[in-house]
Amino acid sequence: LVSRKKKPEDTVIEVNGERIGDGNPHFIMGPCAVESYEQVSTVAKAVKDQGLKLLRGGAFKPRTSPYDFQGLGLEGLKILREAADEHGLAVISEIVNPADIEKAVEYLDVIQIGARNMQNFELLKAAGSVNKPVLLKRGLSATISEFINAAEYVISRGNGNIILCERGIRTYEKATRNTLDISAVPILKQETHLPVYVDVTHSTGRRDLLLPTAKAALAVGADGVMAEVHPDPAVALSDSAQQMDIPTFDKFMNELKK
Ligand code: PEP
Ligand code: MN
Repeated sequence: LVSRKKKPEDTVIEVNGERIGDGNPHFIMGPCAVESYEQVSTVAKAVKDQGLKLLRGGAFKPRTSPYDFQGLGLEGLKILREAADEHGLAVISEIVNPADIEKAVEYLDVIQIGARNMQNFELLKAAGSVNKPVLLKRGLSATISEFINAAEYVISRGNGNIILCERGIRTYEKATRNTLDISAVPILKQETHLPVYVDVTHSTGRRDLLLPTAKAALAVGADGVMAEVHPDPAVALSDSAQQMDIPTFDKFMNELKK
């Protein structure tokens, strides 16, 4: 059902007045994790001031170590919703447990399924059964074919509003956190009718590479870019090394708009 052979025209997903997949880039920006109302609200204001409409922030964080900050859970989603409403933004946040989906859709505009859960089939089915767009990230070691099949799980349950997100894959290369598979973008655009995003923060893990990889993403036809922004990355509870502070974010957006 996600194949372009089945449906030749692009799927366009309406979120908060943005038409994702319409040929113009739509940016998804916000902190790695929701930490406090002040933190999210500061970023939300910066996002709004750039004329953007889509705010991200993790409330349920799938951390590699059980001793790292796990996120504020439902309380985090409420904070995100409040800060987003204050600034006229839509909310995108990751859900990790199928049982949370029904409750979470009260607070979310887009459900994110993270890389670690790309093949959590019960989660894919649950996200496919609700009436909210889904941003599906490529698994850390997933082939493009496996990624497309994961999207097929969602659409097979009735929900065809799916955004695919390339976020880097695991290779032997250590210079970046993951290896951004830039060619996945045109391949996914050719093979499916779904919008395709690139997450430059988690693919590179390096603040100095956010702008060049975002330019590359747009140059190869991505429908949007995701990146992380924090008022003070040095004290961020997750992904401290690669989030942008607000002046850096402003420069990043101004460069991309050129
Ligand atoms: C995220 O976007 O917050 C995240 C955890 O990314 P990924 O699932 O791609 O690692
Ligand atoms: Mn992060």
